[in-house]
Amino acid sequence: MSLLLTGSVNAHVGFPDGMDILRSGGSAIDAVVAAIRRVEANPGDHSVGYGGLPNLLGEVELDASIMDGRTLASGAVAALQGYQDAIDLARVVMDELPHVLVVGSGASRLAVEAGFTSRDLLTHEARAIWDAPFTEAGTADTYRVRMRELAGRLSQDPERPHDAHGTVNVIARDAAGNLASGVSTSGWAWKFPGRVGDSPIIGAGNYADNRWGAATCTGRGEMAQRCCTAHSVVSFMRCGMRLSDALRTAAGDLHQLEDDYRSEVNIIGVDREGRHGAVSTAPGKTYILMTGDSHDIVELERTYVPPNDGSPMESR
Ligand code: ASP
Repeated sequence: MSLLLTGSVNAHVGFPDGMDILRSGGSAIDAVVAAIRRVEANPGDHSVGYGGLPNLLGEVELDASIMDGRTLASGAVAALQGYQDAIDLARVVMDELPHVLVVGSGASRLAVEAGFTSRDLLTHEARAIWDAPFTEAGTADTYRVRMRELAGRLSQDPERPHDAHGTVNVIARDAAGNLASGVSTSGWAWKFPGRVGDSPIIGAGNYADNRWGAATCTGRGEMAQRCCTAHSVVSFMRCGMRLSDALRTAAGDLHQLEDDYRSEVNIIGVDREGRHGAVSTAPGKTYILMTGDSHDIVELERTYVPPNDGSPMESR
């Protein structure tokens, strides 16, 4: 069986660790955790873990999930503060609790009980990026008003989308042909406190089932939540679609949503034979791939799915 790691471009710092695990006969789930852990520790990545951009109150809140395609075992944490290793904590939820998703103070409590080391996740650099629009915008009356104002402006500002969005996702296939998928993010920058995106929601931003394939999302999580995008891709394959058609259909469905804060959604998928593919609702996007045969990490173009793809909402 060919070994494979694929994911968002920012996962490149973690791929060597993940591939070492796969090459030494380790499991896809271990490889996913090892790869994402590196990204969470990278202060230069303002979309994930340490150095991630904070919510409206200036607090870094992390979301992460992991799924094992062998058994559909899943674990996730959301709105986690004070601990950078969100993917490891999602693994603890999966392995040690009779739950799938633990949020907020419960997630921090679990981190303490599992012996994780706490850390102030807000770096100077992230704080400076976070501060800028407040300074430019002045102050508004309530958090909700400020959120709407910032979200609307930032999602339409071509200079700033890299500030507002970002996530790491990784799908692995091991020597036994097992699939696993993981996603980790600090979420939408300037988000309303407690907002949870698609990344920790099994079926929205992350899904893996050895029998059909796996899919993960980045981009505007609310859209992926509304369409259950990751699960849809896997279900479309279950119903007989090829991976490329499943991805395209899921992206077409996203385009049909009415959304005042619309922005891109990107999906990566792997089918049960280990074929990979990726799409985006925006042009010019890429993803990365590493296989067991090479030490190179290759950057590949995602298929752009334009807005007129997919069935109109009225016809459903
Ligand atoms: N999907 C993430 C979220 O909505 C953010 C992103 O990938 O840009 O929280």
